[in-house]
Amino acid sequence: MRPVVVVHGGAWAIPDELSRASVDGVKAAARAGYAVLEKGASALDAVEAATRSLEDNPAFDAGHGAVQNTEGEVELDAIIMDGSTLASGAVSSVRNIANPITLARAVMEQTDHAMLTDRGANLFAEKMGIPTVPTEALVTEIERKEWERQKSYSIGVKEMFNNQWAHDTVGAVALDCHGNVACATSTGGIRHKMVGRVGDSPIIGSGAYADNQSGAVSCTGHGESILKVTLARLILFHVEQGRGISEAVEKSLQHMGERVHGGGGAIAVGPSGQWAAKFTTERMPWACMDGEALHYGMEPKEENQEAP
Ligand code: ASP
Repeated sequence: MRPVVVVHGGAWAIPDELSRASVDGVKAAARAGYAVLEKGASALDAVEAATRSLEDNPAFDAGHGAVQNTEGEVELDAIIMDGSTLASGAVSSVRNIANPITLARAVMEQTDHAMLTDRGANLFAEKMGIPTVPTEALVTEIERKEWERQKSYSIGVKEMFNNQWAHDTVGAVALDCHGNVACATSTGGIRHKMVGRVGDSPIIGSGAYADNQSGAVSCTGHGESILKVTLARLILFHVEQGRGISEAVEKSLQHMGERVHGGGGAIAVGPSGQWAAKFTTERMPWACMDGEALHYGMEPKEENQEAP
């Protein structure tokens, strides 16, 4: 089986000054995921490695680079799911953790639960020996400025989100050489969100889903809209109905736009190696290692390829 990994860096109108860093970031993450798959390791290991690379990159709203809530705090959400067993692990509203995806994996593998939130997630991180980092270390200078600037806006978070899409959740999906799929999604959520707000990203079936029988999906976009249509499961439902991966993603995003006026994007990979990266927002940086070939893009209808 030819391994495949696809990653995204969030659906939104990325400003030109961040576009280069975003594309470089997704390319590096796809390579990091593929390096794991090439050694024969699992899809789960690959999505964790790719997502950690994006969390460590301050160009993205996850781990380092995360956005701040109304109180100027950083609350992080993440989920990981294993398509071979349907096991999943998630954390929500966790603080001071640089790689929430690794904590989510620990929830999946070391507890009897599927999600830990807020203080409970932090207590578990401590128990697992996962180090904490100060909030200031996670917040970039650009984020501090944007947060201040938008504080004075009179419009609500939803309008701001719909107008600007200034968010860049990250995610990865992979198919390994044994035929297993996995997915991961990690985010700081949306800027100026209410304290305790949890979006779609860590919610199974909304921000992500993986099942060896149909494929793996990671979503991005307006969380409250994604939750309404359970976007990740909706995509796989269409695959189960006999649609191809690309068509399933397109149809589901179109439905979300028409039914609840929400924009977003998704990446997906099927058990036979078909993959897709689609979005209805202005931009979404994405990259895919399909075997040795690197595909990537950021604008609608754009696809570049670097041969091995
Ligand atoms: N879906 C994320 C959230 O609502 C944001 C994003 O994908 O940019 O928290």
